[in-house]
Amino acid sequence: MHNAAMSVDHVLIIGAGMAGASAAAKLRGAGHAGGITLVGEEQRLPYDRPPLSKEVLLGRARGGDALILPEDFYRKERIDVRLGSQVTSLDLDARAAVCEGGARIHYDQLVIATGARARRLHVPGITLPGVCYLRSVEDASLLSESLHAARRLVVIGGGFIGLEVASAARHLGVEVVIVEQAPTCLERVMPSAAVSAVIGWHCERGVSVLCNRTVQVIEGRSRVESVTLDDGTQLEADLVVVGIGSVANDELARKAGIACARGVLVDTRCRTSVDRVFAIGDVASIRDASTGRGRRLESWDNAGRQAARVAEQLLGRRIDQDNPP
Ligand code: NAP
Repeated sequence: MHNAAMSVDHVLIIGAGMAGASAAAKLRGAGHAGGITLVGEEQRLPYDRPPLSKEVLLGRARGGDALILPEDFYRKERIDVRLGSQVTSLDLDARAAVCEGGARIHYDQLVIATGARARRLHVPGITLPGVCYLRSVEDASLLSESLHAARRLVVIGGGFIGLEVASAARHLGVEVVIVEQAPTCLERVMPSAAVSAVIGWHCERGVSVLCNRTVQVIEGRSRVESVTLDDGTQLEADLVVVGIGSVANDELARKAGIACARGVLVDTRCRTSVDRVFAIGDVASIRDASTGRGRRLESWDNAGRQAARVAEQLLGRRIDQDNPP
């Protein structure tokens, strides 16, 4: 994995989330004088997602209002932001991204920051009204409305999304059961002492947590009424939230022949297998030098850190080893 000497002219960033917006801001802030183009699929300026599973659910904030950078930042800093625009393919030989409709955007350096989407659950009844996911502003608004009207919520997946939704639901007086397939919640992301404390707080506030269980079927006539687990337990529910992890949006890179394995494979400097192409944020999968396997670090903090590291490299500066997550 080698990227050529960094004489940066035009940097194209695909993906206008935390990672992409931060990369644009860091580049300009660090003194990059050339062009910066930021392309995003959503019609909104880059916004913070953390409130979507907290204040927005409680009705204390509106999704999308918490902008990562002020509205006039992009104009002042000469960042060409193209919202509602989808890049459909990459022409790596010509160093160009091809957008829906055929328009081409040329680049000298490319940063892929396309993020991830909610992993879908495949069980009978999953399409019933009242079964939701949480990733976008629209998901959060719909879920907030539904939570305010709900009485019994079943949360599938005891990760960050599941626990934060459970917490918001209890604030609103909704009965909550969490169904987690692993022996404990947050197993992959927290040490066991911290998990015990977090789950203890949830249980003290009336959340029921069922581990080592999966969902067999979701049932209801016109909308969800119950969830049946693999051990036959039937849980009544008028609302179900699925939070079972995310899937990297790496299709664009994969189609172009950039090495991917459940994410765009990068080295510790966020360099992909192709010269002049970097990947950062939720889509980037850091290859472990000894095993060759990738690991995605899905956090707000990591997105900002990787953006800063790539900006430094694009300006030809030396970067140190990143801190462990
Ligand atoms: P997550 O943190 O990966 O947790 C998903 C959980 O669901 C895991 O414990 C997983 O168990 C479990 N699971 C998977 N399949 C299941 C099934 N069929 N039935 C029951 N449980 C199942 O993912 P998430 O909570 O959906 O969050 C999505 C992304 O948003 C993550 O990147 C997360 O970091 C991010 N997020 C972060 C925050 C925060 O930092 N505060 C807040 C919200 C969201 P296994 O481990 O066995 O797969």
